[in-house]
Amino acid sequence: MENDNVFNLQLSSEKCFICGKEFCENNPKTEEHVFPKWLQKQYDLWNQRIILLNGTDLPYKQLKVPCCKECNTKYLQEIEKQISESAKLGYEQFIKLDELKIFQWISKIYYGIHYKEFFLYMNREKPNNGTILNKDDIYRFEMLHFFLQSVHKPYIFNNTTPWSIFIFKTLKYPDERNFFYHDTYNGFCSLRFNDIGIIVIFEDNGIHKEFFKDKFVGYNKISLANIQFDEICAVINYKYSLFNRVPKYMIEEQEDHSIIFSLPINGLSSSSPWSIWDGKVFKKFLLNSWSKYNITEEQIISTNTNHTTFIKDESGYYLKQYDINNKLKNLVKIID
Ligand SMILES: [Zn+2]
Repeated sequence: MENDNVFNLQLSSEKCFICGKEFCENNPKTEEHVFPKWLQKQYDLWNQRIILLNGTDLPYKQLKVPCCKECNTKYLQEIEKQISESAKLGYEQFIKLDELKIFQWISKIYYGIHYKEFFLYMNREKPNNGTILNKDDIYRFEMLHFFLQSVHKPYIFNNTTPWSIFIFKTLKYPDERNFFYHDTYNGFCSLRFNDIGIIVIFEDNGIHKEFFKDKFVGYNKISLANIQFDEICAVINYKYSLFNRVPKYMIEEQEDHSIIFSLPINGLSSSSPWSIWDGKVFKKFLLNSWSKYNITEEQIISTNTNHTTFIKDESGYYLKQYDINNKLKNLVKIID
């Protein structure tokens, strides 16, 4: 597993960010848009800016990574085709997609952003200060990069999938609120567009999907408003931040395919794979998700067992946009 041939993580602007091959006449360099062109076009992202890890921003259209022609035209374009066709048709069609395709598509975006950060200076005026991500940082993504090789090599995930993917039906908005992307450095990502909200944990062996399977039953009966989706993101992201195991895998390389075995997440330990939920810390996650609605820390209640929610009322009914607006107004009123 330490073998370079397995991970093949090549960091050079003259090598493909997916397969690691050096560009040549037969397989020349192309530039792959991290956020695909169809997505940028549909949600008018070209000139909107994405905020990078160092707090600087970059227009979506400039977020491009070096990719060989073969990976670009043979493999990635095929994934884009499947994803974009389903995405345009909406949630009901999107959930029929093979989960591996969704994983490949989102991990290409996630990995692409952080790969790009490896080439961008932390401070453009002071190049000596180094790049946003250094070599050690980017090696944290080597397992993800390895899974991403499944776009051009057949992989068999033997006993479980390495990821947790959650897909929710969301409310459509007629303006820029209809697109949202957020990720964290530790392998969490959320993306919302059209009527589709996706949350991914890249390496947890599916344990969070299993943990939340009862909690989210029924959520697909409604279209979640953006504030509701943001709340779910905060819940999953915080739970994942409490995850105290490092997933391990065994890789069996065959001639024409690789088999991936996930090792049991608990190993020999009987302790919980999560540290204890702390309402005070969770409040910060909610605040992060909700500050764009002008909600302040004082307005959020978050104990170890309970928290302010925009998903259901006291009787268990889902809140609609009208109720949400009223609740938001009342929140502000109470504090004023
Ligand atoms: Zn390639």
